[in-house]
Amino acid sequence: MQVIEKLTYDVVVVGSGAGGMLSAIRAHDLGLRPIVIEKSDRYGGTSAVSGGAIWIPNNEELNGADSPEKALEYLKSCTEGAVPEAKLSRYVELSPTIPAYLKELGVEYYVHPQMTYPDYYPWKPGSAPRGRTMFVRPMADGTVLGDHFFQLRESYPEFKLFGRVTVDLSEGAQIAGKYPGWQKTLARVLFNYWSDLGWRRKTRRDRRLGIGNALIGGLRKAMADRDIPLRLNTGMTRIVRDGGRVTGIIADHDGQEVHIDASRGVILASGGFEQSSELRHRYLDQKTEPRWSATPRDNNRGDALLAALEIGADAEFLNEAWWAPTITVPSTNAPNTLRNIALFYERGFPHSLAVNRLGKRFTNEICSYHQFGQAMLRDNAATGANMPCWLIFDAEFRAKYPLGALLPGSVVPDRKLPPEWIDSFLYRSESLAGLASKIGLPKEDFLATVERFNGFAATGVDEEFDRGGNVYNQYFGDPSHGPNRVLGAVAKAPFYAVRLDLGDLGTKGGPKTDENANVLDKEGTVIPGLYAIGNAAGSVMGGAYPGAGATVGAAMTFGYIAATNAARVNSW
Ligand code: FAD
Repeated sequence: MQVIEKLTYDVVVVGSGAGGMLSAIRAHDLGLRPIVIEKSDRYGGTSAVSGGAIWIPNNEELNGADSPEKALEYLKSCTEGAVPEAKLSRYVELSPTIPAYLKELGVEYYVHPQMTYPDYYPWKPGSAPRGRTMFVRPMADGTVLGDHFFQLRESYPEFKLFGRVTVDLSEGAQIAGKYPGWQKTLARVLFNYWSDLGWRRKTRRDRRLGIGNALIGGLRKAMADRDIPLRLNTGMTRIVRDGGRVTGIIADHDGQEVHIDASRGVILASGGFEQSSELRHRYLDQKTEPRWSATPRDNNRGDALLAALEIGADAEFLNEAWWAPTITVPSTNAPNTLRNIALFYERGFPHSLAVNRLGKRFTNEICSYHQFGQAMLRDNAATGANMPCWLIFDAEFRAKYPLGALLPGSVVPDRKLPPEWIDSFLYRSESLAGLASKIGLPKEDFLATVERFNGFAATGVDEEFDRGGNVYNQYFGDPSHGPNRVLGAVAKAPFYAVRLDLGDLGTKGGPKTDENANVLDKEGTVIPGLYAIGNAAGSVMGGAYPGAGATVGAAMTFGYIAATNAARVNSW
């Protein structure tokens, strides 16, 4: 391969997700010269398409209602001894500084007064019933990014209104749930979008950036203000280690080699390996496919892991992912394209249940998406009849509630759906028995499951899996439904089914790191000059997913830590 360029910086950041960009900005602010390289032709990675939420225990807005001791107790319980206490403590100590640092950069986070997201394991000691998850405020005008606006990886259409109008998480939830004031919010966002006439003539893309796009847009602006270079279409292929110390990387740019020296360190921030079939099959416990993942196609293929292993790094949690059930939806814009959508909350609406291919329930459907994924794995190991499994619902669910990209039937009835969706993506039958035969479930067992479930719905008590039995469950569902807001009979024809695959929001195994984000070798010794963060590193959360925002929160916290260490600053 021809070497076209040799560059010299203090720090090379590999990957332009939230953690990577924040670490570059922090390195700059501490007096270093960083560069970010990005393999794709878009920056932002999965972070850009995410909800942008961050899990920050003991954050300032909790005003003392949380404490470092409680947060540490919770994390220790979640991670079950798999993560050293020093690393958990570092997260607890430093994550609360991230919202303040982001604010200095122009990106604002807040705790929403109503959307109070409980922790995902409410039964564990130290869990919080509200407030550790923080949301990002929208960026009103993304066009301040100039030429960088269209290079930003766009939010997925299902996170926008009608696939195009930006809403933040609270606006989206308010409109979807028809909570007080929803019409006003809807009118405001639609008016802002359509009255932006000059920009509308140019593009359908909203200049207002929300959720993950607001975070990444804000970080990109902070980088531009500081003249920090971000090179697209430049993928790291190797790490250079010279006399023990990592001194730089080699990257590929359009088939040609770029050598970048980094005197103060290389920060691996290039995401997980969820888009590589080969690495999935090598490391994950059961066979899963990249196409089930909800992350952007192709880029996160474990390049950092492979390069780090090659120079002697140790690795951990390689069989773990941030699991989430996903559905595969044909795109309305391009019917031959399939989109994978994670089901974060829909499993909690009443008049629905999930069954394996034996027609049996296997978990509390409205546990967190990560726990649901783990339940699919467990059930599949035991029965061989999960992955895929099925979400079953009735006409009442279909009329009232959204499901991934599918708006409620009261807004978009079945007759307005592309006809090819019926019985390929959305299976439908006038009877439960008919539905069972369409999707290949054993009829008797399935009918018995639904009958038993409907009995629980009548009393409001799920005797099998305690659906609705904790504060996390009760955050979801339909507040106007009783006696249990997440539990309703599946009784009204027609009946529906969608296939659930074991998807993910990224893998979370990678080079083993210490509490300073230093990569360790197989003897547990620091490899000088090499840092790993986010999904490119073995996760600080081990096999757990403590709460909404724990992935982006951890990526940015350890990005901040890595940059601070690269600058050899002794205080945070
Ligand atoms: P990424 O953000 O994926 O960034 C990695 C970047 O590295 C990519 O741009 C990639 O192209 C680039 N790259 C890969 N290989 C190379 C290479 N060799 N050289 C250079 N660059 C390379 N988590 C939360 O905490 N809160 C949420 O609200 C949330 N919502 C989500 C919603 C959805 C729909 C999805 C799919 C995920 C969500 N997640 C959320 C999960 C979260 O987005 C990811 O786990 C997280 O963003 C991963 O961050 P990262 O920086 O490790 O990787």
